[in-house]
Amino acid sequence: MKVNTAQIAKATLHRLVQSRVDPTPENYTRAWIEAGGPVSEGAVPVDASGWTQLIEQLMHGLDQRGRHWTLARKKDSLQRVLAGSRGATLQRLQERLTQLSASWQQDDQDSQVEALASGFVPAAPETPASSGWTELASRLQTTVSAGLPTDDERSAELARALESHAKRWQGGEIDDALLRQVHDSCKEVGRVFTQRHLLVNEMTRLVRAMTEGLTELAEDESWARGQADAMRLRLGDGGGALSLRGVRSAAELLSQTRRQQQRLRGERDRARDALRALVDSLSEELKSLGTHTGRFSEQLSQCVDGIESADTREKLSSLVHDIVSASRTVQTEVADAGSRLAAGREQAEALNERVRELESELRRLSDEASTDALTQIANRRGLAQAFEVEAARHERDGNPLAVALIDIDNFKKLNDSLGHAAGDEALKALAAQVQKTLRPVDHVARFGGEEFVMLLPATQVEEAREALGRVQRALSMSLFLHEGREVFVTFSGGVTLWRPGEDLDSAVERADLALYEAKRTGKNRTCVA
Ligand code: GH3
Ligand code: MG
Ligand code: MG
Repeated sequence: MKVNTAQIAKATLHRLVQSRVDPTPENYTRAWIEAGGPVSEGAVPVDASGWTQLIEQLMHGLDQRGRHWTLARKKDSLQRVLAGSRGATLQRLQERLTQLSASWQQDDQDSQVEALASGFVPAAPETPASSGWTELASRLQTTVSAGLPTDDERSAELARALESHAKRWQGGEIDDALLRQVHDSCKEVGRVFTQRHLLVNEMTRLVRAMTEGLTELAEDESWARGQADAMRLRLGDGGGALSLRGVRSAAELLSQTRRQQQRLRGERDRARDALRALVDSLSEELKSLGTHTGRFSEQLSQCVDGIESADTREKLSSLVHDIVSASRTVQTEVADAGSRLAAGREQAEALNERVRELESELRRLSDEASTDALTQIANRRGLAQAFEVEAARHERDGNPLAVALIDIDNFKKLNDSLGHAAGDEALKALAAQVQKTLRPVDHVARFGGEEFVMLLPATQVEEAREALGRVQRALSMSLFLHEGREVFVTFSGGVTLWRPGEDLDSAVERADLALYEAKRTGKNRTCVA
């Protein structure tokens, strides 16, 4: 009968795994013979060293406890691979076993990461200095250090300690003392993180309480109430976690509100001063009128006395003449004061009207407008309206909706070197260029200072990335002229697909992560999330 070496090799593996002996070449040969393999030297039909290593890994894998791979599942899968490789070449079997071992290993590593994160330090791995563990240790160290606050000496010290642990680990200096120190540092890090979480929770509560207070303080119907409401919405009404974007946009809104308030307060102060001056002059007017009328009544009573004692017609007629002229003077004075008062009233009404106009302009600005004044494209409100339309369209046609967020690169520098007005021109030119390059069905909105959001209906995420790439290339041709010089502007972008059912902010938040990635990896590019 012809010996089927592949089957003998599988049986050999099986034996090794079952008997859990060390996978040395000797043991392998013994198992090979026990499985009925030919005894002659060189008959072992495989690369013994490769197999030895593989079996070693499998045995090690069986000993490790993973998150998904329980011992029973590991055994099952091993059986399945062996059974499924009947008739396959040995090389294929080796490949499949290697894959299996790798997936166990990945699971083991994930579990170690979780264990470390929860403050539990597992027993040192059998070969802790192996490159996988060293890499894991250094990745853990950089991740944890990045999460530590930078403005606190205690945390800085902790970060330095972690770095030194990682260095010792890399140098193979792994002993009980190091493990104990890592354990202590992890506990300390856990305390810092818990404190940060508490701090964030408290701050969240404070910010919400302040925003609510603002809404209550704002007079009814005033534009400030609209702003306070908008801010509450941006901070997330539901009491859930604050989002980074929400906080940032609330801060933006707050500074915008402050500017508007300053403007309004200035106008009101001027109107109030003018009214005060008017009241002063009116009271002067009334005083002088009072003096005139007082003098008139004095003259009148003198005349009445004179009439009683008048003994000739001439005397009487001169008295009547005096009365008529005095009353004429008073009449003129009263008429003059009356018209001055009427003019004053008109002036007061005009001032009042100006304040009313100003307030309604502010209200309109904050409540109604859906267009950005500078760039003449949609603002956040316009974007929200467009999003509603697109979400409803998706309900009907089920087409994907891509969401993109872009942010101008190094815009501060442009403002600093060419001035704020040039920055404004760049914003206008960029908005126009984006609109020109995208399809008419796409929506472009100014999201904040120098950030724009685009909604691209019926567009897959890769197509959206290409569309932004087209805008980036179009911009690189030329942007706008400033004092006769061409100014180039680049931007970084992040794109993502809107997930049906989620709100726009969640999708923008995801796009923001991709945008951050684009910034981090060199700017003037677009990443996908
Ligand atoms: P980065 O590449 O990392 O984005 O760097 P950056 O300099 O662009 O940094 P950042 O995005 O933080 O800077 C935003 C700047 O945009 C700050 C602010 O002065 C400016 N800006 C925001 N709104 C306006 C605006 O309406 N007009 C002008 N001229 N500048 C604005
Ligand atoms: Mg920015
Ligand atoms: Mg920027």
